[in-house]
Amino acid sequence: MIPAELYPTTDVLMSRSAKEERLGQRAKVFWLYGLSGSGKTTLAAAFERRLHEEGLFSVVLDGDNVRSGLNKDLGFSDEDRSENIRRIAEAAKLFVENGVLTIVSFITPRERFRRMAREIVGENDFLEVYAKASYETCEKRDVKGLYAKANAGKIRDFTGQQSNFEEPSAPWLVLDTEVSTPEESLEQLWESSQKLVLPSA
Ligand code: ADP
Repeated sequence: MIPAELYPTTDVLMSRSAKEERLGQRAKVFWLYGLSGSGKTTLAAAFERRLHEEGLFSVVLDGDNVRSGLNKDLGFSDEDRSENIRRIAEAAKLFVENGVLTIVSFITPRERFRRMAREIVGENDFLEVYAKASYETCEKRDVKGLYAKANAGKIRDFTGQQSNFEEPSAPWLVLDTEVSTPEESLEQLWESSQKLVLPSA
């Protein structure tokens, strides 16, 4: 390990609060998680669009832009999933510390992964958003055709089959995508978050 004192940049870089002020927002990490097909991508994209319309600045970190680049060396074993989450959490921390609203969309199937992400990002900035839908519903939706492939034995370590998904104990917000439309879930997310992200009066 390289000692932290070799990187004393925190004292010389622009402060987070100056950047938040410039952007007119208070930064947070919204960590969306749930089974494949539960609605994470749909809601992350819609939320980002909504934030943009409200004049706020955000980034989305998801499987497409992270697993295809930064984490392309990682697979879906428990160890690799853990390293995947660790790197995403570190990336999210860099963004939030620079005043950017950060929307993360990853299955994050275990409580210990969510705990690790919370510890890395920091309690004050980390908002756990559970996209809740049963395995059966996600299998029926099969947005990306992954359930069909997994049922045919073509995917190893598929979440909900050989690799389990642990129900969360106390998320900040639960979006039940079986009972709500995407528009309703988005409204619920924006309603809950606006008081946290808009600059305080
Ligand atoms: P994930 O990113 O979790 O794998 P997707 O967002 O790609 O899931 O797919 C979710 C599917 O469920 C989409 O077809 C979406 O239209 C549908 N859906 C139904 N209700 C909701 C809801 N309330 N929120 C998000 N998606 C929903």
